[in-house]
Amino acid sequence: MSTDTIQTDAYCVFGNPIAHSKSPIIHAAFAQQTGQALVYERRLAPLDGFALAARGFAAEGGKGANVTVPFKLDACALATELTPRAKAAGAVNTLRFDGDVILGDNTDGAGLVADIVRNAGVAIPGKRVLLLGAGGAARGVMLPLLQQQPGEIFIANRTVATAEKLVEQFHEGASADCTLRAGGFEQPDGVFDIVINATSASLAGDLPPVPPGVFGSHTLALDMMYGTAPTVFMDFAAQHGAQVRDGLGMLVEQAAEAFYVWRGVRPETRGLLALLRGAL
Ligand code: NDP
Repeated sequence: MSTDTIQTDAYCVFGNPIAHSKSPIIHAAFAQQTGQALVYERRLAPLDGFALAARGFAAEGGKGANVTVPFKLDACALATELTPRAKAAGAVNTLRFDGDVILGDNTDGAGLVADIVRNAGVAIPGKRVLLLGAGGAARGVMLPLLQQQPGEIFIANRTVATAEKLVEQFHEGASADCTLRAGGFEQPDGVFDIVINATSASLAGDLPPVPPGVFGSHTLALDMMYGTAPTVFMDFAAQHGAQVRDGLGMLVEQAAEAFYVWRGVRPETRGLLALLRGAL
C-alpha cells in the first residue's frame, strides 16, 4: 500500500496494548450515523516510539488520532497547541493534525459530564461531588466538572498529598460558591450527590475504603471502569442505596466529543451505548 495516498480521511487510536480498544467500533458507528466519510483503525505504537508513530501517521495524511494508555502525556508533549481543558488535564487523548499544527485536546472530562448530565439525567450545579482518586483520569475531569458549578468537590485519594496538589491547581478555577477539599478515603462526611471512582482500584478488584454514609438513595455512584460485571465499587455503592453506573457511557461520550473536534458534527450516542452494553 502506498503511504502517501490516503483517499478517505483517516483517523486512528494509538495505545500499547491496543487490541482491546472499542474506539474503531464507536467511530465507525458515528461515521455511518452522520454520513461522514472516514476510516478509523487501531495502531500499536512502541512504548518508546509514540511521537514517531504519530508523526508518521500525520505524514501519511492522517487527520487525527485518539490516544490511550500509556501515551496521553507523550501526546501532550507532541501537540503544538493545547485546548484549555487539555492544558488543565496535563494530558491529551485527542490529536488533530492541521498542516504543521498538531492540536492536543482532552475529551475525557466532557465525556464524563455528558454521561452524568445527559445519560444519567443528573444535574451538577450546586451538588456535592466526591471524586475518588487523584491520578490522570481525576485531573482530566476537574476543569469540565468545575465548569458545571458544583457546590463542592471533595477529592479523596490514597496518597493525600496528590489530592491536595489537585486542589491547589484548581483552586483559582473554582467559583466562589464551590468548596474544594482534599483528604483520605475515610474523611468525606455526610451524603454526596455524585461519587465518582477515578482510581484504578477496580482493575485489581479493590475498593477505596470510603464510609458507606457517603451514599444515599439519590446518590449517583459512577465507576470510570467498565466490564461485563459491576465493579466491587458499584456493588458496594448499590448495597448502600446508590444508583450505579460504569465507565462505558463516559467512553462513548468522550469519543463523541473527539468526533466533534475532528468533524464539527455531534453524533447521537444513546443507541450505540445500548448496543455496546449488550455486546460486552
Ligand atoms: P493513574 O495511574 O494515573 O491513577 C491511579 C489512581 O488510582 C491514583 O489516584 C491511585 O492512588 C489510585 N489507586 C490505584 N490503586 C489503588 C488501590 N488499590 N486503592 C485505592 N486507590 C488506588 O490512572 P488513571 O487516572 O489514568 O486511571 C484511573 C481509572 O480510570 C482506570 O481504571 C482507567 O481505566 C479509568 N478511565 C476510564 C475512562 C473511560 O472513558 N471510561 C477514561 C480514562 C480513565 P495513589 O495516588 O495513591 O497512587
